[in-house]
Amino acid sequence: KNHIIIGAGILGASTAYKLAQEGENVTIIDRQEPGQATQAAAGIICPWISQRRNKAWYALVKAGAAYYPKLIQDLEKEGESDTGYAQVGALSLHSDGKKLDEMVKRAEKRKLDAPEIGEITRLSALEVQELFPPIAEGLEGVHVSGAARVDGAALKDALLRSAKRNGATIIYGDASIQIDDQGKSSILVDQTRYHADSIIVTAGAWADTLLAPLNIQFNVKAQKAQIVHLELQDQETSEWPVIMPQGDQYLLSFPDGQIVAGATHEDEVGFDERVTASGTLELLSKALTHAPGLSDASVKTVKVGFRPFTPNFLPVIGRLPGHPEILLANGLGASGLTMGPYIGSELAKMALVQDSSIDLSLYEISQAIE
Ligand code: FAD
Repeated sequence: KNHIIIGAGILGASTAYKLAQEGENVTIIDRQEPGQATQAAAGIICPWISQRRNKAWYALVKAGAAYYPKLIQDLEKEGESDTGYAQVGALSLHSDGKKLDEMVKRAEKRKLDAPEIGEITRLSALEVQELFPPIAEGLEGVHVSGAARVDGAALKDALLRSAKRNGATIIYGDASIQIDDQGKSSILVDQTRYHADSIIVTAGAWADTLLAPLNIQFNVKAQKAQIVHLELQDQETSEWPVIMPQGDQYLLSFPDGQIVAGATHEDEVGFDERVTASGTLELLSKALTHAPGLSDASVKTVKVGFRPFTPNFLPVIGRLPGHPEILLANGLGASGLTMGPYIGSELAKMALVQDSSIDLSLYEISQAIE
């Protein structure tokens, strides 16, 4: 069968990878939006200690995190060693020890049906500093050994390379969906028209424009995020854990002194791709408050990406009402690197008319259609 995937972020790349592995005929179209969420994201995989109580959301992030180790192993077997993924553990920090004790309880409870969480360990401020030397003094923590970090751009590229090796084609261009008088859909990229048995829309924050010609008002909102990349000289940082301090900021470490501090949450600014003074100030001041030892790091770059949110901050997955040949997933929001590869594999199953391993009724697309 022929499948066309529109959008090569983490979701489209994962779907393409899976379908190509199954021997399907896959074409991926991407217009290389500079604000693609996936290229900006650097990438905490640690859903278990979140206080968010929405069960439908938790089911996706839990399954998403559990899906990773096998995926990475499979990619490595193919020779893809640069996936940007490492299970370095995560350290959640707080100045109030009681909050950390509650976190341990929450995590232990969730571990009962999520053994991938690994070891949950309460750490003193000194132990925290040993694991992450630049951190501020006096912060105790909870360490979760099963947590990981992933570089979204590196993983997406590895998935696309694998898909290509298995026969997929990538076209860089702006796609639109058209429906003819007989109700048959096709895809137009520049002047070329493509037909497919299934059209899979993984267009992130831009999906509404793609569906507008079908008279579908798709409710996706873009949330702008800025994220700063720092470099520490002469430090071996590849094994440093993900740091999740109090509040909405976090710090991730990659090999060769690379530290990533993110991210801003900017609503209602549209697709403004600029790095702003206030965004950079917020990122750096929070990073240095949490980790004063970063004050001498070099500033390498600030990236910008747009998180796609659908109503109630809950992803939607399924076939488009009235257009059964069009499949879509969207709304991966702030946890799309965690759940993206898993949802991609579910989308691939849907395109192959195989049974799903999730309760799809929780994520119906109609929830995001006005
Ligand atoms: P995208 O990655 O945005 O991809 C959509 C693609 O569609 C784009 O490449 C675009 O070019 C293409 N497209 C759109 N319209 C068209 C068209 N008409 N024709 C052709 N192509 C088109 N998640 C985590 O789990 N953990 C984290 O720590 C984390 N941190 C993040 C930090 C930042 C700064 C950001 C921005 C996000 C973060 N996320 C994180 C969230 C995660 O990155 C996103 O949820 C996820 O990447 C969304 O993937 P996507 O494939 O749906 O969309």
